[in-house]
Amino acid sequence: AKSAGGNRFELADPEADARAITRHGLTTALPAALERGEFFIEYQPLVHLGDGSVRGAEALVRWLHPQHGVLSPDRFIPLAEHTGLIVPLGRWVLEQSVRQARAWQERRGGADVAGPLRINVNLSPCQLAHPGLVQDTVDILERTGVEPDALCLEVTESALIGADDDLLKPLRRLSEMGVDIALDDFGTGYSNLANLRRLPVSVLKLDRSFTQSMQQFPADPVDLKIVEGIVSLAHSLDLAVTVEGVETGAQAEQLRILGCDTAQGWYYARPGPPERLHELALVDATG
Ligand code: C2E
Ligand code: CA
Ligand code: CA
Ligand code: CA
Repeated sequence: AKSAGGNRFELADPEADARAITRHGLTTALPAALERGEFFIEYQPLVHLGDGSVRGAEALVRWLHPQHGVLSPDRFIPLAEHTGLIVPLGRWVLEQSVRQARAWQERRGGADVAGPLRINVNLSPCQLAHPGLVQDTVDILERTGVEPDALCLEVTESALIGADDDLLKPLRRLSEMGVDIALDDFGTGYSNLANLRRLPVSVLKLDRSFTQSMQQFPADPVDLKIVEGIVSLAHSLDLAVTVEGVETGAQAEQLRILGCDTAQGWYYARPGPPERLHELALVDATG
């Protein structure tokens, strides 16, 4: 608590101090954590809304901290972005995830009626601005033998708002190679819909808030109109629509009726270890 009257006698807020120390402690621990292999990746399936098949997964990084246990990305990604460690960390996540996708593809063999399992990886704006992004991605795809078509890089809508051509250039190059670019958290960033034509994206990931508004059946008519409008605009621009945060069958059904293509959420599976994704996809492929 702050003491009244003047800065000179201000008392420290012990809770704020603890938070600051943790933040500071976590920040300084990040580089060694990467070297010691304390990060790991969970995978959450991406499910085709039309037929329920597993088409791929999103890679979500976690930190197994020796004192604090498993930390969610919201706790440390902003710190890694602040210090620049996000560049090597992001490269590690990309390489691990693409390797994992390769392993799934090999184990599935001929079961791939709907094409090889795909992998979605989050990109931070700092990685976008880093000159090595395109070459690193090309190298990783070549080393693993994964087709560019099987990779989707997710960039948040807010990272691309007002992005100039220099920032878009690497995304454009990746997109020309066949890598899909998804606009993450779409609908939260007040972007001009007409602006979409300028961006090298092929997937819109509708923010979880839209899914939440589909909780009631039937949903609020205005919410339905909004999602319907976004989906039809997206499809008219040749973009696929993925929905996040699907927690109930009713949500899945409404979003399917509205024409969304792919879904992700606890209703299907929580993020989990790679073996789990393999099981889900295999069961699905063999009936
Ligand atoms: P995001 O990209 O929007 O990822 C979706 C988040 O929603 C994940 O949280 C996921 O676990 C959570 N989620 C999935 N299904 C449901 C559901 O049905 N209900 C609810 N309530 N939540 C659901 P997570 O794993 O904590 O990740 C948080 C954010 O951290 C991600 O948001 C992403 O922005 C960032 N992130 C994760 N991994 C990476 C990474 O490797 N690199 C970068 N730059 N960012 C990452
Ligand atoms: Ca994402
Ligand atoms: Ca493609
Ligand atoms: Ca998202």
